[in-house]
Amino acid sequence: MAEKKNLPIGGVITEAGTAHEYVTGGWRKLKPLLDKGKCTNCLICWVMCPDSAIVVQDGKMIGFDMEHCKGCGICAEECPDKVKAIKMEEEAG
Ligand code: SF4
Ligand code: SF4
Repeated sequence: MAEKKNLPIGGVITEAGTAHEYVTGGWRKLKPLLDKGKCTNCLICWVMCPDSAIVVQDGKMIGFDMEHCKGCGICAEECPDKVKAIKMEEEAG
């Protein structure tokens, strides 16, 4: 018969909508750079960013929330091939 074990209590999330409090920007090795001249404001990057770090104002993509952008590069990858308005660069320092 299997021995009984006391397992530690796991993490408990007591409130909704707390992801914003995690400053995931500290994980970044690469940072996205926007070429506004190329951007067509299709907002695919806004849809695809896993950290909601694409900043949109008046229906236009205006930049990145660098406190939460973790530098995954999905926005650069998903920006349409004929546009490619985002490139990833090494984080300085
Ligand atoms: S690099 Fe990743 S986290 Fe940062 S804005 Fe692009 S998709 Fe979002
Ligand atoms: S996916 Fe590319 S073209 Fe579309 S809004 Fe984002 S940066 Fe601009």
